[in-house]
Amino acid sequence: MKKTIIDMHCDTILRCLQGKSLRDMEGTHINLQKMKEGGVAVQCFALFIMTNGDGADYGFEQKSPYEVYQALLQVFQDQMQQNQDLIRQVRSSEEILSGIRSGQQMALLTMEDAAPAEGKLERFAEFYEEGIRMMTLTWNYENCIAFPNSKNAIAHNTLGLKPFGYEALERMNELGIIADISHVSARCFWDVMEHSKKPVIASHSCARRICDHPRNLSDDQLRALADRGGMVGINFFYDFLEDHPEPRSTIESVVRHMRHIKDVAGAEVLGWGSDYDGIPGTLEWGDSAGMPILLDALSPYFTDDELDLICWKNFVRVLKDNE
Ligand SMILES: [Zn+2]
Repeated sequence: MKKTIIDMHCDTILRCLQGKSLRDMEGTHINLQKMKEGGVAVQCFALFIMTNGDGADYGFEQKSPYEVYQALLQVFQDQMQQNQDLIRQVRSSEEILSGIRSGQQMALLTMEDAAPAEGKLERFAEFYEEGIRMMTLTWNYENCIAFPNSKNAIAHNTLGLKPFGYEALERMNELGIIADISHVSARCFWDVMEHSKKPVIASHSCARRICDHPRNLSDDQLRALADRGGMVGINFFYDFLEDHPEPRSTIESVVRHMRHIKDVAGAEVLGWGSDYDGIPGTLEWGDSAGMPILLDALSPYFTDDELDLICWKNFVRVLKDNE
Protein backbone atom coordinates (compact mmCIF):
# COMPACT_ATOMS: atom_id res chain seq x y z
CA MET A 1 0.00 0.00 0.00
CA LYS A 2 1.47 3.30 -1.07
CA LYS A 3 0.55 6.55 0.68
CA THR A 4 1.81 10.10 0.83
CA ILE A 5 4.36 10.18 3.63
CA ILE A 6 6.03 12.88 5.71
CA ASP A 7 9.13 11.58 7.49
CA MET A 8 10.08 13.82 10.41
CA HIS A 9 13.73 12.86 10.85
CA CYS A 10 16.81 11.66 8.97
CA ASP A 11 20.56 12.29 9.10
CA THR A 12 21.08 12.01 5.35
CA ILE A 13 22.69 15.46 5.05
CA LEU A 14 25.75 13.97 6.78
CA ARG A 15 26.13 11.60 3.82
CA CYS A 16 26.00 14.55 1.46
CA LEU A 17 28.72 16.15 3.57
CA GLN A 18 30.89 13.22 2.51
CA GLY A 19 30.41 14.29 -1.10
CA LYS A 20 27.43 12.15 -2.09
CA SER A 21 24.43 13.52 -3.98
CA LEU A 22 20.83 13.18 -2.81
CA ARG A 23 19.88 12.46 -6.41
CA ASP A 24 21.38 8.99 -6.78
CA MET A 25 23.71 8.15 -3.90
CA GLU A 26 24.07 4.45 -3.10
CA GLY A 27 24.42 2.62 0.20
CA THR A 28 22.12 5.08 2.00
CA HIS A 29 18.55 4.70 3.25
CA ILE A 30 17.47 7.79 1.34
CA ASN A 31 18.01 9.21 -2.11
CA LEU A 32 15.50 11.02 -4.30
CA GLN A 33 14.59 7.88 -6.24
CA LYS A 34 13.99 5.86 -3.05
CA MET A 35 11.84 8.67 -1.61
CA LYS A 36 9.69 8.62 -4.72
CA GLU A 37 9.31 4.83 -4.68
CA GLY A 38 8.33 4.90 -1.00
CA GLY A 39 5.76 7.68 -1.44
CA VAL A 40 7.74 10.11 0.73
CA ALA A 41 6.49 13.57 -0.27
CA VAL A 42 8.20 15.51 2.50
CA GLN A 43 11.49 14.51 4.06
CA CYS A 44 12.58 16.50 7.10
CA PHE A 45 16.35 16.86 6.74
CA ALA A 46 18.07 17.46 10.07
CA LEU A 47 21.24 19.46 10.41
CA PHE A 48 22.85 17.22 13.03
CA ILE A 49 25.13 19.43 15.09
CA MET A 50 28.06 17.30 16.15
CA THR A 51 29.66 18.63 19.35
CA ASN A 52 32.12 17.43 21.99
CA GLY A 53 34.57 16.15 19.37
CA ASP A 54 32.00 13.96 17.59
CA GLY A 55 32.58 15.85 14.34
CA ALA A 56 36.26 14.83 14.11
CA ASP A 57 35.57 12.50 11.15
CA TYR A 58 34.32 15.52 9.22
CA GLY A 59 37.12 17.89 10.28
CA PHE A 60 34.75 19.68 12.64
CA GLU A 61 36.61 19.18 15.92
CA GLN A 62 37.82 22.81 16.00
CA LYS A 63 34.47 24.29 14.91
CA SER A 64 31.92 25.88 17.23
CA PRO A 65 28.34 24.53 17.13
CA TYR A 66 27.34 27.61 15.11
CA GLU A 67 30.14 26.96 12.58
CA VAL A 68 29.04 23.31 12.24
CA TYR A 69 25.49 24.58 11.61
CA GLN A 70 26.74 26.95 8.89
CA ALA A 71 28.72 24.18 7.18
CA LEU A 72 25.77 21.76 7.20
CA LEU A 73 23.34 24.45 6.05
CA GLN A 74 25.60 25.09 3.05
CA VAL A 75 25.55 21.35 2.19
CA PHE A 76 21.73 21.30 2.39
CA GLN A 77 21.42 24.43 0.22
CA ASP A 78 23.86 23.02 -2.36
CA GLN A 79 21.79 19.82 -2.56
CA MET A 80 18.56 21.79 -3.07
CA GLN A 81 20.27 23.83 -5.80
CA GLN A 82 21.79 20.82 -7.59
CA ASN A 83 18.55 18.83 -7.52
CA GLN A 84 16.01 21.59 -8.03
CA ASP A 85 14.41 19.69 -10.91
CA LEU A 86 13.36 16.97 -8.42
CA ILE A 87 12.99 18.49 -4.95
CA ARG A 88 12.40 21.88 -3.34
CA GLN A 89 12.62 23.31 0.13
CA VAL A 90 9.26 24.13 1.75
CA ARG A 91 8.63 26.38 4.76
CA SER A 92 4.94 26.19 5.66
CA SER A 93 1.95 23.87 6.00
CA GLU A 94 0.35 25.68 3.05
CA GLU A 95 3.34 24.94 0.79
CA ILE A 96 3.30 21.31 1.89
CA LEU A 97 -0.41 20.95 1.12
CA SER A 98 -0.08 22.45 -2.34
CA GLY A 99 3.07 20.37 -2.99
CA ILE A 100 1.21 17.19 -2.04
CA ARG A 101 -1.67 18.14 -4.34
CA SER A 102 0.72 18.57 -7.27
CA GLY A 103 2.82 15.48 -6.49
CA GLN A 104 6.07 17.26 -5.64
CA GLN A 105 9.00 16.02 -3.60
CA MET A 106 9.77 18.39 -0.75
CA ALA A 107 12.40 19.03 1.90
CA LEU A 108 11.74 20.64 5.27
CA LEU A 109 14.79 21.80 7.18
CA THR A 110 15.20 20.89 10.86
CA MET A 111 18.03 21.05 13.39
CA GLU A 112 19.13 18.29 15.75
CA ASP A 113 20.67 19.85 18.88
CA ALA A 114 19.98 23.54 19.48
CA ALA A 115 23.59 24.12 20.57
CA PRO A 116 24.21 26.61 17.67
CA ALA A 117 22.02 29.11 19.53
CA GLU A 118 25.06 29.44 21.84
CA GLY A 119 22.97 31.32 24.39
CA LYS A 120 21.93 34.03 21.91
CA LEU A 121 18.17 34.48 21.60
CA GLU A 122 18.47 36.39 18.31
CA ARG A 123 19.86 33.28 16.60
CA PHE A 124 16.36 31.71 16.44
CA ALA A 125 15.08 34.36 14.02
CA GLU A 126 18.08 33.55 11.83
CA PHE A 127 17.33 29.81 11.94
CA TYR A 128 13.70 30.53 11.07
CA GLU A 129 14.77 32.75 8.18
CA GLU A 130 16.76 29.84 6.70
CA GLY A 131 13.62 27.69 6.85
CA ILE A 132 14.23 25.68 10.01
CA ARG A 133 10.79 24.68 11.32
CA MET A 134 11.66 22.12 14.02
CA MET A 135 14.57 21.91 16.46
CA THR A 136 15.55 19.01 18.72
CA LEU A 137 16.32 20.87 21.94
CA THR A 138 19.32 18.66 22.81
CA TRP A 139 21.14 15.68 21.35
CA ASN A 140 22.73 13.33 23.89
CA TYR A 141 24.78 16.10 25.57
CA GLU A 142 23.87 18.97 27.84
CA ASN A 143 23.73 22.26 25.91
CA CYS A 144 22.72 25.89 26.56
CA ILE A 145 19.02 24.92 26.44
CA ALA A 146 18.58 21.76 28.51
CA PHE A 147 19.78 18.35 29.67
CA PRO A 148 19.53 15.15 27.60
CA ASN A 149 18.00 11.74 28.30
CA SER A 150 20.04 9.63 30.69
CA LYS A 151 20.22 6.05 31.95
CA ASN A 152 20.80 7.63 35.35
CA ALA A 153 17.20 7.91 36.58
CA ILE A 154 17.96 10.79 38.98
CA ALA A 155 19.54 12.91 36.24
CA HIS A 156 16.79 11.91 33.80
CA ASN A 157 14.03 12.98 36.19
CA THR A 158 15.53 16.10 37.78
CA LEU A 159 17.64 17.95 35.17
CA GLY A 160 15.41 19.77 32.67
CA LEU A 161 15.19 23.10 30.83
CA LYS A 162 17.76 25.76 31.79
CA PRO A 163 16.80 29.44 32.26
CA PHE A 164 17.91 30.17 28.67
CA GLY A 165 15.91 27.14 27.56
CA TYR A 166 12.68 28.71 28.80
CA GLU A 167 13.45 31.89 26.85
CA ALA A 168 14.38 29.86 23.78
CA LEU A 169 11.14 27.88 23.93
CA GLU A 170 9.12 31.09 24.13
CA ARG A 171 10.98 32.52 21.12
CA MET A 172 10.47 29.30 19.14
CA ASN A 173 6.75 29.42 19.95
CA GLU A 174 6.56 33.03 18.74
CA LEU A 175 8.45 32.37 15.52
CA GLY A 176 6.82 29.07 14.60
CA ILE A 177 9.69 26.62 15.16
CA ILE A 178 8.38 23.32 16.56
CA ALA A 179 10.09 22.21 19.80
CA ASP A 180 11.30 18.63 19.26
CA ILE A 181 11.66 16.73 22.53
CA SER A 182 13.28 13.55 21.23
CA HIS A 183 16.61 13.14 23.10
CA VAL A 184 15.77 15.38 26.09
CA SER A 185 15.48 14.23 29.71
CA ALA A 186 12.11 13.31 31.20
CA ARG A 187 12.34 16.45 33.39
CA CYS A 188 12.89 18.59 30.27
CA PHE A 189 9.93 16.89 28.57
CA TRP A 190 7.62 17.92 31.43
CA ASP A 191 9.12 21.42 31.62
CA VAL A 192 8.38 21.86 27.91
CA MET A 193 4.88 20.38 28.31
CA GLU A 194 4.13 22.87 31.04
CA HIS A 195 5.49 25.96 29.30
CA SER A 196 5.09 25.49 25.54
CA LYS A 197 2.22 27.49 24.08
CA LYS A 198 2.24 25.33 20.93
CA PRO A 199 2.03 21.55 20.34
CA VAL A 200 5.41 19.81 20.43
CA ILE A 201 6.85 16.79 18.66
CA ALA A 202 9.11 13.89 19.58
CA SER A 203 10.38 13.51 16.03
CA HIS A 204 12.17 10.16 16.43
CA SER A 205 11.32 8.15 19.55
CA CYS A 206 9.30 5.03 20.43
CA ALA A 207 7.21 3.63 23.32
CA ARG A 208 9.03 2.95 26.58
CA ARG A 209 6.39 0.44 27.68
CA ILE A 210 7.40 -1.76 24.74
CA CYS A 211 11.15 -1.10 24.92
CA ASP A 212 12.60 0.34 28.12
CA HIS A 213 15.10 2.91 26.84
CA PRO A 214 15.35 6.52 28.11
CA ARG A 215 15.09 7.74 24.48
CA ASN A 216 11.56 6.30 24.40
CA LEU A 217 8.38 7.83 25.87
CA SER A 218 6.31 6.52 28.79
CA ASP A 219 2.56 6.08 28.43
CA ASP A 220 2.06 9.24 30.55
CA GLN A 221 4.32 11.17 28.21
CA LEU A 222 2.49 9.84 25.13
CA ARG A 223 -0.88 10.84 26.60
CA ALA A 224 0.45 14.30 27.55
CA LEU A 225 1.70 14.81 23.98
CA ALA A 226 -1.69 13.77 22.62
CA ASP A 227 -3.64 15.93 25.10
CA ARG A 228 -1.72 18.99 23.90
CA GLY A 229 -2.08 18.22 20.20
CA GLY A 230 1.50 17.03 19.64
CA MET A 231 2.91 13.85 18.15
CA VAL A 232 5.66 11.23 18.10
CA GLY A 233 7.50 9.87 15.06
CA ILE A 234 8.44 6.19 15.24
CA ASN A 235 12.21 5.67 15.18
CA PHE A 236 13.49 2.61 13.26
CA PHE A 237 16.64 2.04 15.40
CA TYR A 238 16.65 -1.57 16.67
CA ASP A 239 17.83 -0.46 20.13
CA PHE A 240 14.64 1.61 20.60
CA LEU A 241 12.38 -1.08 19.11
CA GLU A 242 13.36 -4.18 21.11
CA ASP A 243 15.02 -4.87 24.44
CA HIS A 244 17.54 -7.51 23.46
CA PRO A 245 17.69 -7.25 19.74
CA GLU A 246 19.83 -8.46 16.96
CA PRO A 247 21.21 -5.50 15.00
CA ARG A 248 18.11 -5.75 12.87
CA SER A 249 14.85 -3.75 12.88
CA THR A 250 11.79 -5.89 12.26
CA ILE A 251 8.46 -4.93 10.73
CA GLU A 252 6.68 -6.65 13.60
CA SER A 253 8.43 -4.49 16.22
CA VAL A 254 7.48 -1.27 14.41
CA VAL A 255 3.86 -2.44 14.24
CA ARG A 256 3.92 -3.36 17.96
CA HIS A 257 5.05 0.16 18.99
CA MET A 258 2.50 1.84 16.73
CA ARG A 259 -0.39 -0.29 17.96
CA HIS A 260 0.57 0.39 21.57
CA ILE A 261 0.82 4.15 21.02
CA LYS A 262 -2.54 4.19 19.25
CA ASP A 263 -4.07 2.25 22.17
CA VAL A 264 -2.78 4.63 24.85
CA ALA A 265 -2.83 7.97 23.04
CA GLY A 266 -4.73 7.64 19.74
CA ALA A 267 -3.76 7.64 16.07
CA GLU A 268 -3.70 11.48 16.10
CA VAL A 269 -0.37 11.37 17.98
CA LEU A 270 1.48 9.05 15.57
CA GLY A 271 3.86 9.77 12.72
CA TRP A 272 7.11 8.65 11.09
CA GLY A 273 10.58 9.53 12.39
CA SER A 274 12.73 6.99 10.60
CA ASP A 275 16.20 8.28 11.61
CA TYR A 276 17.32 7.00 8.19
CA ASP A 277 21.05 7.29 7.56
CA GLY A 278 21.60 7.91 11.27
CA ILE A 279 21.02 4.35 12.51
CA PRO A 280 23.06 1.15 12.17
CA GLY A 281 21.78 -2.37 11.49
CA THR A 282 19.54 -3.75 8.79
CA LEU A 283 15.88 -2.89 8.26
CA GLU A 284 13.54 -5.71 7.32
CA TRP A 285 11.72 -3.42 4.84
CA GLY A 286 14.97 -2.15 3.32
CA ASP A 287 14.95 1.64 3.29
CA SER A 288 12.87 4.68 2.33
CA ALA A 289 11.62 2.86 -0.77
CA GLY A 290 10.15 0.15 1.49
CA MET A 291 7.61 2.31 3.34
CA PRO A 292 4.68 0.60 1.52
CA ILE A 293 5.78 -2.71 3.12
CA LEU A 294 5.31 -1.15 6.58
CA LEU A 295 1.91 0.22 5.58
CA ASP A 296 0.80 -3.24 4.43
CA ALA A 297 1.78 -4.62 7.84
CA LEU A 298 -0.13 -1.86 9.65
CA SER A 299 -3.29 -2.08 7.57
CA PRO A 300 -4.99 -4.89 9.58
CA TYR A 301 -4.80 -2.72 12.73
CA PHE A 302 -5.43 0.80 11.43
CA THR A 303 -8.22 2.23 9.30
CA ASP A 304 -7.38 3.95 6.05
CA ASP A 305 -8.20 7.33 7.64
CA GLU A 306 -5.90 6.58 10.58
CA LEU A 307 -3.08 5.70 8.20
CA ASP A 308 -3.55 9.04 6.40
CA LEU A 309 -3.29 10.82 9.75
CA ILE A 310 -0.13 8.91 10.64
CA CYS A 311 1.46 9.24 7.22
CA TRP A 312 1.08 13.01 6.76
CA LYS A 313 -2.00 14.74 8.14
CA ASN A 314 -0.91 14.79 11.78
CA PHE A 315 2.35 16.54 10.93
CA VAL A 316 0.64 19.15 8.75
CA ARG A 317 -1.74 19.84 11.68
CA VAL A 318 1.09 20.32 14.20
CA LEU A 319 3.10 22.49 11.83
CA LYS A 320 0.04 24.66 11.16
CA ASP A 321 -0.68 24.94 14.89
CA ASN A 322 2.86 26.24 15.36
CA GLU A 323 2.61 28.85 12.58
ZN1 LIG B 1 18.63 11.70 17.02
